[in-house]
Amino acid sequence: MNRIISHYINGQHSAGIGSRSSVVFNPASGKVQAEVVLAEQADVNTVVAAAKAAFPAWSDTAPLRRARIMFKFKMLLEARQDELAALISSEHGKVHADALGEVARGLEVVEFACGIPQLLKGEYTEQVGRGIDAWTMRQSLGVVAGITPFNFPAMVPMWMFPVAIACGNTFILKPSERDPSAALFIAELLTEAGLPAGVFNVLQGDKLAVDGLLTHPDVQAVSFVGSTPIAQYIYETGARHGKRVQALGGAKNHMVVMPDADLDQTVDALMGAAYGSAGERCMAISIAVAVGDVADKLVAKLSERLKTLKVGPGNDPKSEMGPLVTRAHFDKVSGYVARGVEEGATLVVDGRGLSVPGCEDGFFLGGCLFDHVSTDMTIYQEEIFGPVLGIVRVDSFAEAVDMINAHAFGNGTAIFTRDGDAAREFTHRIQVGMVGVNVPLPVPMAFHSFGGWKASLFGDHHMHGPEGVRFYTRMKAVTTRWPTGIRAGAEFSMPTMK
Ligand code: NAD
Repeated sequence: MNRIISHYINGQHSAGIGSRSSVVFNPASGKVQAEVVLAEQADVNTVVAAAKAAFPAWSDTAPLRRARIMFKFKMLLEARQDELAALISSEHGKVHADALGEVARGLEVVEFACGIPQLLKGEYTEQVGRGIDAWTMRQSLGVVAGITPFNFPAMVPMWMFPVAIACGNTFILKPSERDPSAALFIAELLTEAGLPAGVFNVLQGDKLAVDGLLTHPDVQAVSFVGSTPIAQYIYETGARHGKRVQALGGAKNHMVVMPDADLDQTVDALMGAAYGSAGERCMAISIAVAVGDVADKLVAKLSERLKTLKVGPGNDPKSEMGPLVTRAHFDKVSGYVARGVEEGATLVVDGRGLSVPGCEDGFFLGGCLFDHVSTDMTIYQEEIFGPVLGIVRVDSFAEAVDMINAHAFGNGTAIFTRDGDAAREFTHRIQVGMVGVNVPLPVPMAFHSFGGWKASLFGDHHMHGPEGVRFYTRMKAVTTRWPTGIRAGAEFSMPTMK
């Protein structure tokens, strides 16, 4: 019988109703390694009730005390990051060093949340009128939910819950059913760090669990990260049910390569950004826009470098790129490669048909490189989410900018150049949420906020950083006047400054 991966409710593992489950693969071996329980509506009700019951005491706990628990959690996670990385690697497939990198980027948000007493400070104005003072404070919302994708099973939850919890909310995480164990590992460490039962809960499940959370009257806010159609659905459904929603969607990230770019540096950057984590990153570069005569040299260098890309299981330290997450995803990505060929792009390097010795049934696809991609092709317009890089050739900088601005997605982008003027103009004109200048994956640090534009984000708050604090709190403005003012008697006209 398969190992069962459960929920974590009110400080304890729980199988819940347990009537449905879904299989969890080891993508490197291709074998089923466990089953995850899928929540029923009754499980949704149980977890929301636990989070609701924990809220009054937690929101009344001094921010400094909440921060100290975050600090303890940070220390525990640092000590056990290798274990968490191995767990991520075994269910997601990414290489160990990359999994460690994801944990490190998540930990930075925990470090940010440790400063919550400072972050929650309001504004104060003395004497807005004679004897009258005004101030603002930010207060927690209540029960909030996070729904996360498979590609960062630790980091994306850590974009959400450290800030949500530090702000005084109680949290329900609904992780991806494809790699659900990292969430439980985190839940256990939070309990060990001293977090009261019910403040952080894990609800395993699929659409039924998501819909249950989205429509539950006791859930105040929903953070979502995943594909664009689901993000839009989450935003619309959540908003219709009166919730605050931030829903981050898919991406198609372009890197503009100017004729003056350092080509060796650019190729190194593109290799990591396009093929790292098998392209299963929302900030992966999937289109390189070659400006002017740089294209031939770029394609030659990239195809040479791709020949040496080491594809293998995540737990082999020599592997640079692991397998795709499931057979179904492998088939989908391979289908896009076939589609690109049909639509007339030149497949310079074909990663299909790769066999990794000892892992013959794993979901491995080698790095693929297309040249002569055009904007009407499916492989240009749609997110592939695999190790497939396309080159689009353009004549000018202006053409590159217009093309990117016309794309439906607007998550991340980068320009590689030595020209400060081109870089400055690019950052000014580009309609994309996160921009890199000679930086291929411009993922903002934890004390800034993460989020795209257009079809890459629904809602108006980005994640973590100051935007995260705003999302997970609501402002209250207080105006105070003490008894002498009252003794002056009632006023019937609109109050004005006197
Ligand atoms: P997904 O949209 O399939 O799933 C995301 C979450 O939604 C999961 O928890 C899943 O259980 C749930 N879900 C799936 N189908 C649902 C439905 N019909 N109704 C309600 N909930 C549903 O995404 P994924 O394949 O797990 O992750 C990859 C996607 O996430 C890519 O599109 C990637 O670009 C995106 N992503 C975006 C960001 C970002 O910051 N913008 C970051 C990481 C990943």
